[in-house]
Amino acid sequence: MNSPSARPWVLAETPYQYLKDNAYQLAVLPMGATEPHNLHLPYGTDWYEGTLIGETLCEHAWTQGARPVLLPTMPYGTETNLSRFPLAMNLNPSTLQLVLADLVESVERSGIRKMIILNSHGGNDFKPVLRELATRTKVHLFLCSWYTCLSDIYFEIFTNKEDHAGELETSFMLRYYPHLVAKNSDGSLAADSGATRPFRFEALQKSWVSITRPWHLLTQNSGSGNPHEASPEKGERLMEVLKTRLVPFIVQLCQADIDETFPFQDVELR
Ligand SMILES: [Zn+2]
Repeated sequence: MNSPSARPWVLAETPYQYLKDNAYQLAVLPMGATEPHNLHLPYGTDWYEGTLIGETLCEHAWTQGARPVLLPTMPYGTETNLSRFPLAMNLNPSTLQLVLADLVESVERSGIRKMIILNSHGGNDFKPVLRELATRTKVHLFLCSWYTCLSDIYFEIFTNKEDHAGELETSFMLRYYPHLVAKNSDGSLAADSGATRPFRFEALQKSWVSITRPWHLLTQNSGSGNPHEASPEKGERLMEVLKTRLVPFIVQLCQADIDETFPFQDVELR
């Protein structure tokens, strides 16, 4: 029997019969968030980003012979920084760790031994749970916060620094979900300037010391970073960079044997 799914790399669209007949090599799990994004982007922005980026990367890897499976995007993340904003739907870091650990266990029981956590939300902290799982699971875990993949060329595409709902996220939404971007009658974005309150201490300004930032004091309307120079073209360039950098990785990871030195090169150290 043939699968009716046109996109067998998207688990949510794929029937069990396909899984009985075919094996996946890698699971990709996008992790999103539900939170305000300045005044112009939807609460689900991180979910839309993770889902579409995951679909695009897996599709292109699939056409090159790789067999990744994209799991449904987690819609909730850690929102303790935005807790004063309505319906910023929080999972505490300890809860999020338990959720991820359970999902990794499901992947492990299914016989898949490689998994990418495709993170869309800066408030999500996965390194602690990855460190814990390293001794507990046979699944090799790879963490990719996609927005960090272009930091070396960020300013070749964008003018203003991105933090939250700024030029990068707005460009993405203008390109792929323009009907969800709020605009004024003159066509400008219905957004504030994305200005933020500076720290009063030099050590914090220079990141010698860090805090978890209370977003209601940092921002006017949750936006951090100027979104007004965003464009659909910049959103498309962002996706192109992600494809160029991450599709080859997914293909290589799918093909790689899990041998003694995986994921390192099998070289002799002397
Ligand atoms: Zn976001």
